[in-house]
Amino acid sequence: MTDCIFCKIQQGDIPADIVYEDEHCLAFRDIQPKAPIHLLVIPRKHVENLDDLVESDKDLVSHMMLTIPKIARQQGLKEGYRTVANTGTGGGQEVFHLHFHILGGGVLHSL
Ligand code: 5GP
Ligand code: ZN
Repeated sequence: MTDCIFCKIQQGDIPADIVYEDEHCLAFRDIQPKAPIHLLVIPRKHVENLDDLVESDKDLVSHMMLTIPKIARQQGLKEGYRTVANTGTGGGQEVFHLHFHILGGGVLHSL
């Protein structure tokens, strides 16, 4: 996706504070943090959101879910963290490349 901000970040065309990367996904700091630690975890593959996932993405999604706690641990989020994925405009999604927010390091209000 040539006009996707997160594809550009993963290709190194837009700078970002990357805190984790592997073969399938990467994590970087949100440019407008809503918590003391606010990361975005994205797949390298361009998938718009949860609605855009297909059966063959099963391993990718599972890998991301298992990697999120590792990233949180690396960031010292010992007390816990919030994971959020906004889907579509109705879900408040602004960037249409699948991402999981990791928020923590302070007091989060209950949803
Ligand atoms: P969404 O609302 O789509 O779930 O979240 C998109 C997030 O991406 C927002 O929290 C926003 O601050 C963040 N964001 C948008 N553009 C950039 C960017 O260029 N770099 C980084 N690091 N974060 C971005
Ligand atoms: Zn993309």
